[in-house]
Amino acid sequence: MDILITGTGLGGLTTALRLAKRGHRVEMLEKADRPGGRLNQLKKDGFTFDMAPSFFSMSYEFDEFAKDCGISLPFQFVPLDPLYTVNFAKTGKQYVIYRDLQRLEKELEELEPDLARKMKAYLDSAGSFFHDSIDKVVRRNYNSLAEYLFTLTRVPLKHVPKVTRNVWQELEKYFDSEEVKQIFSLVAFFLGATPYDTPALYSLLSYTEMVHDGYHNVKGGMYKIVEGLMDEMEKEGVKVHYNKEIVDYKEEGGKLKGLVDQNGKIWTADDYVVNADAAGFRNAVFRRKKYRTQRLDKQKWTLAPFTMYLGIKGKVPNIHHHNYFLGKNFKEYASKIFKNDISLEKPYYYVNVQTRNNPDAAPKGHEALFVLVPVPDLRYKPRWEDAETLAINVIRDLSQRTGYDLENNLVSKTVFNPKDWEQFLNLYRGSGLGLAHDLNQIGAFRPPNKDEKFNNVFYVGSSTVPGTGLPMAVISSGLVTQRIINKYGNISEKCAKNQ
Ligand SMILES: Cc1cc2nc3c(=O)[nH]c(=O)nc-3n(C[C@H](O)[C@H](O)[C@H](O)COP(=O)(O)OP(=O)(O)OC[C@H]3O[C@@H](n4cnc5c(N)ncnc54)[C@H](O)[C@@H]3O)c2cc1C
Repeated sequence: MDILITGTGLGGLTTALRLAKRGHRVEMLEKADRPGGRLNQLKKDGFTFDMAPSFFSMSYEFDEFAKDCGISLPFQFVPLDPLYTVNFAKTGKQYVIYRDLQRLEKELEELEPDLARKMKAYLDSAGSFFHDSIDKVVRRNYNSLAEYLFTLTRVPLKHVPKVTRNVWQELEKYFDSEEVKQIFSLVAFFLGATPYDTPALYSLLSYTEMVHDGYHNVKGGMYKIVEGLMDEMEKEGVKVHYNKEIVDYKEEGGKLKGLVDQNGKIWTADDYVVNADAAGFRNAVFRRKKYRTQRLDKQKWTLAPFTMYLGIKGKVPNIHHHNYFLGKNFKEYASKIFKNDISLEKPYYYVNVQTRNNPDAAPKGHEALFVLVPVPDLRYKPRWEDAETLAINVIRDLSQRTGYDLENNLVSKTVFNPKDWEQFLNLYRGSGLGLAHDLNQIGAFRPPNKDEKFNNVFYVGSSTVPGTGLPMAVISSGLVTQRIINKYGNISEKCAKNQ
């Protein structure tokens, strides 16, 4: 079949290869001038920056994807050890987070006595939920709400309290130290939310980072994932057209007949997979009532990214490859961060020193830094004339906390505020990770990966099932491929039989 995929994010690319390997003729359209979506790259002033994802968990999802496509994975994982550091403003202390519990206990001994035992109890509970839900609930397509609810009844009842508690309340059950709770609540921020509004179900992310598979970088930088996939797609004859933004559509007899780009050209296929935001596309292109702006604006969206790409002369001391810098008012900050009250003076932020994993990211004797500040989305802070104030404040704060004058050693600086992200990739309201993961926005409550009107339209990526992050995008491509296999069977097997 001819399949047209709109969007070259990780979800789009992995779907393209899965389908091409099954004998479909796949073509792709991309609004930007290069592939990757959020998994993108910026080259400037001799530096090469990964633009957004800087590490990932559940690396075996990539292995399973490669196996499904019958290829060897075209990039190499680098496991993170230690995982990251957490830096507290109040005490000026830095804690290094190790996966080894004895080492971690030693590192955090001044904060929480008997940490290894408490941590093990916390992780055992999170791990038990992970294993009871990942295959049964997450790696599945749903055809109705009833089917989803029925599936949930197969998850053991002992996990029900995790539905009623949030991540912070879950941590309170196991730990006394405020700092320790803050450290392990950071997983909620990986989901683009705060520990106070993320269901305790997601404490399973602590299990995936600490026990199950840890975190990984990619040798040579994260963009090697995209380059590797593009090479594999080229071998399969997948064509990609850049600078093509889909703005309209044509329908005929209850089916999608074509997608229309910004120049009025109509692109046709038998089936269509949309990798643009699954809710945003239904709003902007299909103009569906259920997805109209007023309704989407009432939904919960993940935090927006304010990102900086800094080229620094010299080597920055007192910092590891992945680092969180927290301020002095965690609870108050978390309660306000979704709205327009973030303080531009004292932001919380994350820094990835990209040169520590990939020395080629910067000229010799320099460092490439990626800084991410979670900020309110464009509903709450639509104007960004003050972007430079935030940028300077973060650079000064980081200089103070590392003891290195970044401002005077700055040789390259690029800032992306939420408006830039919205424009670059059509991220709805500039939200970084798509729709949030509240209980009423996951599973059958998330925009489905099969269109409600056109039976030849499917979706893949962060705002459809199962959710956000790189491993979820890979799972999502498996789920949408399954939908297409259900429709046509395994084409390549049919081809083989006909020969
Ligand atoms: C700052 C930041 C940091 C992150 N860090 C991590 C991390 O460390 N680890 C992790 O696992 N995840 C991380 N994520 C999340 C991760 O990047 C995403 O979950 C994942 O990359 C999303 O992939 P996707 O397939 O959903 O699509 P996207 O990457 O969003 O790609 C969709 C593509 O569709 C294109 N498109 C949109 N509309 C149209 C249109 N109308 N016509 C044509 N093309 C269109 C876009 O240009 C884009 O290329 C981060 C995200 C951000 C923003």
